[in-house]
Amino acid sequence: MKAMVLEKVGKVEENPLKYKDVDIKKPEGFEILIKNLACGVCHSNLHMIEGDWVQYGLPGKSNIIPGHEIIGRVEELGDNVTDLKKGDIVGLQPLYSACGKCEYCLSGREHLCPYGKWTGETVDGGYAEYMIADSRYVNKVPSNIDPVNAPLFCPGVTAYTAVKKAELSPDKTVYIVGIGGVGHIALQIAKLYGSRVVAVTTSKNHEDLAYKMGADDVVIMDRNYENADMLAKTADAAIIFAPADAAIKNSIKFVKDGGVVVQGVRGNQGEFDFTRELKIKGSKIGTRQDMNEVLKLAADGKIKVESKTYKLEEANEALKALKHGEVNGRAVLKMY
Ligand SMILES: [Zn+2]
Ligand SMILES: [Zn+2]
Repeated sequence: MKAMVLEKVGKVEENPLKYKDVDIKKPEGFEILIKNLACGVCHSNLHMIEGDWVQYGLPGKSNIIPGHEIIGRVEELGDNVTDLKKGDIVGLQPLYSACGKCEYCLSGREHLCPYGKWTGETVDGGYAEYMIADSRYVNKVPSNIDPVNAPLFCPGVTAYTAVKKAELSPDKTVYIVGIGGVGHIALQIAKLYGSRVVAVTTSKNHEDLAYKMGADDVVIMDRNYENADMLAKTADAAIIFAPADAAIKNSIKFVKDGGVVVQGVRGNQGEFDFTRELKIKGSKIGTRQDMNEVLKLAADGKIKVESKTYKLEEANEALKALKHGEVNGRAVLKMY
């Protein structure tokens, strides 16, 4: 099969992913072989590929195939798989598998499992024609969801769990900070709570997308948030997906005292002012149950993914476009 393989981390301008022939593996035990139909191109893929995450031990193996938001068709089953059949359409999220036994797995927080394997980061992912998955950790995809919606499996679930933590209700105002792959889905989910939803972005290009996704208002911030003071203490909650210290520090200022801040990206918050009694929560992806809830919303037409498609062999191009802010919504490698 063909795959985009990362042999050595490097800047995407130097095309670090190589289009190569790779052997198709045979599924064993609970594994399945999937024919990948679509795989989203995530900002975290970009970080790993460019070497930003070497400090966290990622990529976790050499010659890795990236990609962790995938929809594909089951082609072959390991001997222990009984609940799936050939031809089923399934999806995988960044959590490839978890131990199933630790305190997190036992309490419905498997995405915090310290023994988790990570799709496209510690095991091969979806920038390929085929991949191996753990049948116990995939979700069946409802038949009316087009595979190009593969980003439901990372930005979709990331947006869903972050909005859930923001304590929204119809009388609340929430700011969604950063209108990229995750933010444009978070806007739609926040609207389902009946709250007033404001998109905050540094990109004028994202204004139309934000309104299209249901934002009640869009605020354009200067590159370094110099005009942030006008929003001080005006939100009940802020949900941050813009990976920049200025975005995070200022979003905390936007929230009224006693309000909620949900941070879904890496970055510095600055000094913590305990007198404001803010609730600051981290959020990353979600569980298989969260994923089923996201798929239900998508199947019911309540959320959709805005995507720009590329061919598998164009993954370096997709990453460059993402890096330079040229993708509206999500870049997706489409293989059907
Ligand atoms: Zn992702
Ligand atoms: Zn565990």
